[in-house]
Amino acid sequence: MRKYVIMGVQGSGKGTQSQMLRDDLDLVHISVGDIFRWHVRNRTKLGAQVRRIMAAGELVGDDLVESVVRRRLDDHDWNFGFIIDGFPRNGRQAEFFMESYDIDAVIHLELPDDEVRRRVLNRRLCPNCGMDYNLIADRPEVEGRCDICGHELVTRADDTPEALEARLRDYHEKTRPVLELFRRKEVVHDVDGRPPLEDVQNAIRKTLGLPAYTR
Ligand code: AMP
Repeated sequence: MRKYVIMGVQGSGKGTQSQMLRDDLDLVHISVGDIFRWHVRNRTKLGAQVRRIMAAGELVGDDLVESVVRRRLDDHDWNFGFIIDGFPRNGRQAEFFMESYDIDAVIHLELPDDEVRRRVLNRRLCPNCGMDYNLIADRPEVEGRCDICGHELVTRADDTPEALEARLRDYHEKTRPVLELFRRKEVVHDVDGRPPLEDVQNAIRKTLGLPAYTR
């Protein structure tokens, strides 16, 4: 059973790297942001509660986040383990998490803020299958269309310069201290998020003692 957390500033590649690990190791990828985006898209009551907060790049309240995470982890729908992305994001969430769950490793993707801005403002997302694109490094084959399912690509509502600055501020003020908590438990693996996708994936695998990535 493998239980991983992946952390890193927005645009550091958490989603993509988690999906690569998930596909190869049969892990369940739990993205709290994806859960919220699903609720917003499907206009649920929870979606209505979080829509504006998310669009402004702010953090959703801890009670709501904890109940979503608890419900999701209670599903126990994994055979080989999970990788959780986008949680915990502050001290209180980290305490809640560490009280209830044991984790094997925290993967920390490091990326300087300038590179974050360059990546995030060029990010496009497929709202249908969740595939992520980047107009600089990872363009779709047909402009504006998803390579996997053909759906029209969108910009995330929170990938605006203003929302990005709010998220960067929250990351440095609230999320970075969480890493220090995990460091005390000696479970943090720092990985440089700047190289090409597959190199980052292999660096993650090397530090976790997993076999190298093969397409
Ligand atoms: P992400 O896709 O991880 O960047 O999450 C998108 C948005 O969902 C964030 O900007 C927050 O508004 C909200 N969100 C996701 N995870 C959390 C969390 N652990 N705590 C609070 N808000 C969150």
